[in-house]
Parts: sequence; structure tokens; C-alpha cells
Amino acid sequence: MTGRSPVRRAIRILPPEIAARIAAGEVIERPASVVKELVENALDAGASRIRIDIRRGGLHEIRVSDDGCGIPAEELPLAVQRHATSKLPDDDLERIATLGFRGEALPSIATVAELTIASATGDRPAGRQLVLYAGQLLSDEPVAHPPGTTVTVRRLFENVPARLAAARNERAETAEIVRVVHRLAIAAPHVRFTLIIDGRTALATSGTGDLRAVVLEVYGTTLADSLPSIEPCEIAGARLSGLVTAPDVTRSSRNHLHVIVNGRWTQPRTLLALVEAAYRPYLPRGRHPILVVVIETAPELVDVNVHPAKLEVRLRAEREIGQAIGDRLSQILARTPRSLTLEPDVSRLDPLRASVAEAGNPYDDRTEDEIVTPAFPPLRLIGQVANRLILLEAPDSLLLVDQHRAHERVLAERLLEHARVPRHHPVPLPEPVLIDVRPAQRERFQRWLDHLAALGFQCEPFGPRSFVLRTVPALPGLTGDADRPEPLAEREQLAPALLALVDELEQQDSDDWHERCLVQLACRTAVRRGRPLTRPAMRVLIQALGETRAPTVCPHGSPIVLRVNHRLLANQFGW
Ligand code: ADP
Ligand code: MG
Repeated sequence: MTGRSPVRRAIRILPPEIAARIAAGEVIERPASVVKELVENALDAGASRIRIDIRRGGLHEIRVSDDGCGIPAEELPLAVQRHATSKLPDDDLERIATLGFRGEALPSIATVAELTIASATGDRPAGRQLVLYAGQLLSDEPVAHPPGTTVTVRRLFENVPARLAAARNERAETAEIVRVVHRLAIAAPHVRFTLIIDGRTALATSGTGDLRAVVLEVYGTTLADSLPSIEPCEIAGARLSGLVTAPDVTRSSRNHLHVIVNGRWTQPRTLLALVEAAYRPYLPRGRHPILVVVIETAPELVDVNVHPAKLEVRLRAEREIGQAIGDRLSQILARTPRSLTLEPDVSRLDPLRASVAEAGNPYDDRTEDEIVTPAFPPLRLIGQVANRLILLEAPDSLLLVDQHRAHERVLAERLLEHARVPRHHPVPLPEPVLIDVRPAQRERFQRWLDHLAALGFQCEPFGPRSFVLRTVPALPGLTGDADRPEPLAEREQLAPALLALVDELEQQDSDDWHERCLVQLACRTAVRRGRPLTRPAMRVLIQALGETRAPTVCPHGSPIVLRVNHRLLANQFGW
């Protein structure tokens, strides 16, 4: 495994029966494939520093040098031969602990480019250098080289016009190389990587071995505040750990989902599907987190020989492991409020920000208790802003809570819960609500009465054209005044919302249909934006919100809570 294989074996040609079992394939498709193979070789050689230089998208030149174990002079010619490798210990494809094992990369590169390899080992003063082009040896001479290896690749694909044409877009090739190097660097936090693109340093990692450090080096230190850790744990003989960005930092592609299995960056499909299902409810549609999952397991529990470019591995207990990671992700994402940043994509919040600034809310009620909930740190209620936001103070930040979405979240969870095991008793309405139905609707409504009752809405027929609603699964005390708390936030919404619910329930059309109907109902009956709330009502709402499973995202994936942390304020004010 990377940096953990001190015993170097001699290079030898694989017996034909082993070579035939290796998932062969043209591994060199574009410049980035060259970079990947060369860096993997450097990692397998136990390098602690790897420097990658590329010019013009890698088409002009790719150079990778390392301070690894080097190749003894007498073995160098073997290194560039097909199926020659030093990495398969007992011809045992079941226990592969290195990134390479097929002995194909160097010879494949040498067929499609000019390849110069210079290498020296620590025990001899001089090294040896070979130059090959299109598979032919051009020169072979001694060279001065510090312990380690340097491979230089020029004239890439000059003799393969089709691939050269495909790789013509230098910017796209450079971007792909950067992506590949980022992945390799994240998979090897103990190695110092330098990536130089056309003479300019594009990445420099410190090689401290700390995952968080390398992720910040790759993605920028502005992430520092929004990168919760996945608590390490052990599942099915595998050790799991990792990092994920808070819901306010997302990307539009899945390119930033990094799964590292025994030091190898990979894309295990089943695992990724489970992981995505877990974060989907907490992120806006089409967005993905930056995620690093590190899995360490015995090599025999992993099959790396399933994909020609070694991009996929097969993992024993992949489903179980994916599930475990998914569970942890949803716990983290459900409880991490989005931070308010001053990036362009939140500029649409400007009017709200302005009204926060202007809000002359009395901040004097110091006698009030803090609101203590499982989800949030102790909160002090400041007040309502613009009749739509509840402003709270946490120890290190301000929280802005969208009152409508908060209520919607509470109602949605209560409805879903009620449908399974009623926990909160339905609340009797002081004045029943009359639901008028058209004749065509009457029978339909009647059919769903038991179902509605199970949700906490007890209705009974009332004359030929109406039903009366007597209870609701609501959050009492949100509206009305102290003597006459009103259990319904939006009384006038309820009858139409229940009629719509019955219509939707009739059109059962997917597996999650029932849940979707209830979420709709919650949305229709939740307290509107624009409605003034009393202090006790706000406390009731925040208390209930902090007891939900996912207090920071509404059932549609939009934020409920935004966080303005003190750092941001200090930056903006220049304190
Ligand atoms: P593989 O990595 O699958 O063994 P390669 O063609 O990539 O096949 O490399 C062939 C052999 O050359 C390796 O097994 C290794 O012994 C040697 N080699 C290649 N690159 C390096 C390097 N940077 N440092 C030390 N040895 C290397
Ligand atoms: Mg290799």
C-alpha cells in the first residue's frame, strides 16, 4: 500500500497465465491517464514527495519525479516491458496492496509517446536513463540522479492521430489532470504533492498525513468552517472515517465525492448510490457535497482487478458500509445550519439582510430562559424580523430561521410520525372547522375518513354537503393570544388543504406518494410568512424545531436556518 510497502521486490515478467487474468485494457486514453499512472508508481515506490510538471495540457510535456525507492540500474530495461512488475508478491491477485500490479503502464506510455525514465537507488552513486519512442529504445546511458525516479513524457499521441485529435483541447486536458492530481493527493495525505502547470504552482500539499489539512489545501481554507468530520467507526471489518461539507457548500457535479479504499481513489457504485440517497434530502436539487470517505480494510476484502483503469473496486460488505456512511451523513447534514456567506449566489437574500440590519427588535428580554433543544446549542430569542424570520443568538453566531419552513418541518414530521406511531395526541379544536364538499367530492372524502383520523384529523359527516373537523395534529400555541391559543396556524387554509390532500391521496402514483402528500399538507397549513408572532409563539416553534430530526432543511431541501457566524461579521466589519 502507498508508503507502507518498505519491502521492494525485483521486477520480473509475469507468468503468462497470471498476465491473462489481469483485466487488461488500453489504460492510456488521455494525458491525465499518464499522470495518474506515473504518480501511482511514485506512491507505490514509497515516495514522500512527488512533483508533477505539465505543459500545454500534458501534450507538450508531463514530468513526474519522486524520492521513492528508485529502480536498480540492471532492472530498468525490464520496467518498460509488458507485464513486468515488482508488485505481485506470490502471483496472488487476491491480495493486492499496491496501486499498480499489471506491469502495463510504462510500456503502454512508451508505445504512444517519447518516454524518458531516469532512476537511481540510494545504495549506488549513479543512476541509469532510458529513452524510448513508439516502443523502440532510443538511448541508454548512465545519469546523475538523486535516489528516486523521474519520468518525462513528450510527443504524446503524436503517432496515434485519433487520440491526439480527441485530446486537442488543452484546457480540458489540464482540468482533467488537476482533477486526477487532487484525487491522488487526497488519497495520500502523507505525501507532499507539487503540481506545476505551465510553470505556475497549482497545488502544494504539506504531506502531514492529516486528511483535513490536505482537503483544505486542495479546496481552499475558506472551507475550514464548514467541514464536519464523519466520526470514525468500524463496520464489517472496515474502518471508516472522513469529512463532508456542510449543506451551504455544494458542487454541481459528483466529481468531489472521494472514496478512498486502502489508499486507492475509487468509485464504488453501490456505495455511492447509498451515500447520495442519504444526502439528497438535505441539499438543493442537483447539488452535491464535497465528501471524502476513507475506508481501510484487509486487502483480501477488496477486488481491485475489475476495471481496466483500476477506477472501480469491488468491496465486500459494500452495502453495509454504504448504509453506515449514509446514516452518518444524514445525521451531520440534518443538523448543520447553512452559513450565510457573501458569495454571489446568496445575493438574492439582500433585502432580508437589509431588514435584519434595520430591525429595531428589543434585545432587552434578558430574563427569558434560553431555548434548549437537542439539535441546537442553547439559543437566546432576539425577535421576529420582517414578520418572517426569527432571529436568535447562539454562542458563536446569529441564527436566522424562516418561520414558515420551520413550522412546515415540524408539521411534516408530526404527520409522518402520526401515520406510523402516534406520539403527539391530536389537538381538539375549540371551534370545529367546516369543510364544504361538492357532491362529486363527498364520497371520495368519506372513503378517506379513517385514514385522515389516523393522521390526527378526526372528521365526521355534517349534513349532505359538509364534514366537520374536530382535531388536528398541530403545534398549539403558535398563533392566537395567551388566553385563546389557536391550535391552527392558518385556520382558513385547513379545509382547502385537506380537500387537496384527499385528491392527491387518490392519485397514488409512486412509492413515496403518501409521504409527499403529507409534506404538501404541512406546507399548505404552516404559518405564513408575513404573520406576526408573539414571543411565546416563537419559543414554541423553535423548541419544536430543535426536536425534529432535520431542523435545518425543509422537506423540499431549502434551508430553514441560516447561520451568520462571528468570523463573517468580524471580516465584514474589519474588526
Ligand atoms: P506496475 O506499476 O503495474 O508494476 P508499471 O509499468 O507502471 O507497472 O511499472 C513497472 C515497474 O517499474 C513497477 O513494478 C516498478 O517496479 C517499476 N517502477 C515504475 N515506476 C517507478 C517509480 N517511480 N519508482 C520505483 N519503481 C518504479
Ligand atoms: Mg504502475
